[in-house]
Amino acid sequence: MNRFVWVMALLVFQSATAQTDDSGFLRKIADNVLSSNAAYENLRALCKTVGPRLAGSSGMVKAEAWGQKALRDAGADKVWLQECAVPNWVRGNKDEAWYSSKDGKTIKKTPMDILALGNSMGTDPKGIFLPAILINDFNELEARKAELAGKIVVFNNIFDPKNLSTFKSYGESGAYRVRGASMAAKYGAKAVLVRSITASTDNNPHTGSLVYDTAYPKIPAAAMGLKDADALIARLKAGEEVYVFYRSEARFLPDAVGHNVIGELTGSEFPDQYITVGGHLDSWDPAEGAHDDGAGCVHSIEVLRALKAIGYKPRYTLRVVLFANEENGMRGGNKYAEEAKAKGEKHVFALESDAGGFTPRSFGFTASLDQLRNMRAWVSLFEPYGVYQFNAGGGGADIGPLNRLLGTPMAGLNPDNSRYFDLHHARGDVFENVNKRELDFGALNMAMLIYMVDKYGL
Ligand SMILES: [Zn+2]
Repeated sequence: MNRFVWVMALLVFQSATAQTDDSGFLRKIADNVLSSNAAYENLRALCKTVGPRLAGSSGMVKAEAWGQKALRDAGADKVWLQECAVPNWVRGNKDEAWYSSKDGKTIKKTPMDILALGNSMGTDPKGIFLPAILINDFNELEARKAELAGKIVVFNNIFDPKNLSTFKSYGESGAYRVRGASMAAKYGAKAVLVRSITASTDNNPHTGSLVYDTAYPKIPAAAMGLKDADALIARLKAGEEVYVFYRSEARFLPDAVGHNVIGELTGSEFPDQYITVGGHLDSWDPAEGAHDDGAGCVHSIEVLRALKAIGYKPRYTLRVVLFANEENGMRGGNKYAEEAKAKGEKHVFALESDAGGFTPRSFGFTASLDQLRNMRAWVSLFEPYGVYQFNAGGGGADIGPLNRLLGTPMAGLNPDNSRYFDLHHARGDVFENVNKRELDFGALNMAMLIYMVDKYGL
């Protein structure tokens, strides 16, 4: 055997041994997570004893206490709160809407199930009663801008079932939720109703943030349940003159004090270099935020718990971050990255789970080509656990600022997305709709990825 062949054979042997060692260790991680109730019981406590936890609410304060306890119980060396100011938007009493003809004769009063959009202003305390105009998309809005003054714009923003990822449909249809109010206010409209951003077959409305363009009046906006939306839109399409009544008490209170909840396992070789894993602690007010993003919080805590439980000592400091205020302000994610930058911290990698507690399918990465190629060599180790792809592109809203400010490579867990938007930001997002085994598979794949990144670096 010449020297070259001998060296090559040794390298092949070493890498095969490394893969065998790794697959054995990954199996240990999986066994530990699958035989534990920790993630599922943590989620139960968050959903049932805390419940809704929008930034600024009393639920937020309770959730922060829950997070600190869960991280201590998981075995974190150190748990602390990182303070940040958070917006304090409140819905007030129940939103109310119905439609009819102006005199209530040709169309009788038909109530609608709606939710004011997050960050929306409310209506006049007595409500508003104005003619509705159906607008199918932003092109039609421009074409009919002269007709909008004094009206309630009803957007027919369809959640496109033909997209292969529901996240694409969410982005397309969600543009009307996010920007529709200001686009319509620009031409004198007085309020906006959007279809809920979902393909769900029930009538639950789905809330979520809007963003006002400060150049135009801040008009109220709400999401309709899809059955009600279909019925109202059918009237408008038939050319009937329809008036909508809408009343909402939504408003902002002064900013409140919120916190990122952080737990650490101190690194054995590089204690001042960090791997961050997280989800967001806040959730919308109509439900328990079980999938969005209770699942991401308990996934992240489970990464720390399982690695510690099997005796793994991370080389880098592992930080679990339960981020504040993702839903309607992003203050927690921004604060974490800004403080990391100000302190000159070195962040090696960040991983986020904010796409639900369903069966994992892949990870998506925002990293250099070299880093992605290195990590892709690990995919076969993940295949037995249901993760078949390491895709280019991905991360998360809360770790995005780390990537932008510090250049930290990042990844997001991508579970099956068929059912996520059925529940997202709506009454159905409750603990009962999370499956323990699906939740655990998300957690164990995350723990496995963190182990591989910690062991080999990028
Ligand atoms: Zn979320």
